[in-house]
Amino acid sequence: MESKVLKIASLCLTAAIVITIPFICYYDALNRRLQAGQEEEKGQMSDLQMLEYNTEQAREADLGQQLCLELPEGLGADEAVIENDYVKQLITVQIPRVGGDYFEEHPLLGRSNHINDLYMANGRIEITMDAVYEPQCTVEDGCLYLDFLRPQDIYDKVVVIDAGHGGGAPGAIKQGVMEKDINLAIVMRLKELLDNNDRNIGVYYTRTEDVNPTFEQRAQLGAKAGANLFISIHSNSIEDGLTSAFNGTEVMYDEQKSEEGCSSKRLAQICLEEATAAMGSKNNGVKYGSSIYIIRNSEVPAALLEVGFMTNQQELDKLTSQEYQEKAAQGVYNAICRALDEGF
Ligand SMILES: [Zn+2]
Repeated sequence: MESKVLKIASLCLTAAIVITIPFICYYDALNRRLQAGQEEEKGQMSDLQMLEYNTEQAREADLGQQLCLELPEGLGADEAVIENDYVKQLITVQIPRVGGDYFEEHPLLGRSNHINDLYMANGRIEITMDAVYEPQCTVEDGCLYLDFLRPQDIYDKVVVIDAGHGGGAPGAIKQGVMEKDINLAIVMRLKELLDNNDRNIGVYYTRTEDVNPTFEQRAQLGAKAGANLFISIHSNSIEDGLTSAFNGTEVMYDEQKSEEGCSSKRLAQICLEEATAAMGSKNNGVKYGSSIYIIRNSEVPAALLEVGFMTNQQELDKLTSQEYQEKAAQGVYNAICRALDEGF
């Protein structure tokens, strides 16, 4: 009796094994095929898709609108270098002393609805945002957390300042003096005033060095930063470029936008009054400027200040002097304060 039971049991067991093994083999092969497919799919993913994929896989990481990266052991909280090129809306995070495959083993996790593009390699993360954001970095339990704040979350008012021309685009050149250098010198003096002001104003510059952002980058920065106003600084020349008696200050705005109240025209008037008062220059009035790309394409109130004429000998001498550049900067600074007081 017992041996019969044993016989039946062993037969059943054999049958079970015979039936199960092909299934196991089949599922194993299927699984491997699926995994290979997934690997292949992952290989084709962009870094931004990988971020989504990895965040989806790590379901326990409930990060909300922030990014999170595990830092290499022993790396100090302040050693990760974060830079913000807000003209390009490009935020970079550089993690020192990590190998090429670091991000494969320690994937970036998290979400942001405002990332246009992501690139990761050799310890460097490049995040292209859809607008200007200020990255806020915190380090907790060996992880670096990145939050993205809008300028409006930080500042009461936001201003964009554009130094005309730059880099390979010098603007007018008179007696070896390049317009781009005068414009930048005035903007850098203005920056000193704005850096030391006690209002909570966020200021974004299209350039603070001898570079030439595109017209599109300049014109868009106002909207990208959510700015209350945009001021571009230039130095004038008469059309034929010859030295003449013609001198003075003028400000251009987009005459085709029929805004009321805090309009580009009103901003231009304020800039003109304050600049001519500070510099003691001749008031040449506000002028139509819709033919100029950055004026026409600005989505925020915009004024383009032509500080003085490089084609006038006396004014050119003044424009290259530190004293007059400081006066011009003071004029623009006063204009910004007055415009913001008026409700821009
Ligand atoms: Zn110019």
